[in-house]
Amino acid sequence: MPELPEVDSYRTGLAKPLIGLEANGGKALWHRASDSNFNLVKGQKIFGLDRRGKYLIINLNTHHIIIHLRMTGRIDITKGETPKYTTVEINFTDGQKLCLVDYRKFGRVWIVKNINKIVGHIGIEPLSKQFTSNKFEEMLEKRTGMMKPLLLNQQFIAGIGNYLADEILFRSSIHPMRKANTLTKVEKKQLHRDIRYIIKKSISYGGTTFLTFRGPEGKKGDFWKQLKIFRKTGEPCPHCKKPVTRIIVGQRSTHICENKQKII
Ligand SMILES: [Zn+2]
Repeated sequence: MPELPEVDSYRTGLAKPLIGLEANGGKALWHRASDSNFNLVKGQKIFGLDRRGKYLIINLNTHHIIIHLRMTGRIDITKGETPKYTTVEINFTDGQKLCLVDYRKFGRVWIVKNINKIVGHIGIEPLSKQFTSNKFEEMLEKRTGMMKPLLLNQQFIAGIGNYLADEILFRSSIHPMRKANTLTKVEKKQLHRDIRYIIKKSISYGGTTFLTFRGPEGKKGDFWKQLKIFRKTGEPCPHCKKPVTRIIVGQRSTHICENKQKII
């Protein structure tokens, strides 16, 4: 599933092909993928791209196109035939179109004037200047839940999904079921560093390629080769060689080294 790094690879990779294009409307080919009025963007030019959590934001003159890829969504820019499994297409005056290609159809597209209507509820950006070690400590103080569901909570922190959470907690030697308020000061500092380290590293590799994800222009993300624990069940832990275990935490498949990540 696309997480912060994968969406970020679209933000940077789509800037060149999209900036300057003039929208000429569009449509939802799968009715539940969007209930926005695509005529709103007719005649507007794209002047930039942003990201908030796992949402990609395309900025036009007065409106924004916001895309959430969810499970299997990817974005294709094409001039020819609309790709199979396209759920939404946005047309441009030069004949090109942006297609949300999504065989499981969970991806969503919105056209809004005020982005906060869609992304206003999202928590702090982990790569922002505001996300300091002190700020993170403060955020954790009020929390009593388990660490993994907390990292996945988009209102707590933006953009972390299942693979990032497993990799981050493994690097920090924190069990995913540890209660947030039991972390020591040292562990909180380490976790803060590792959140930023793992996300930046994944971005530097263009994200990962799971399921149908392909970055801009079909480029595959290479971070999956760097994964240490995610989907490595039974394989030796890179630190202690004990086989990686798969457990369920908050209904999500979770991968840990029981030796490195102790519950107490
Ligand atoms: Zn280990």
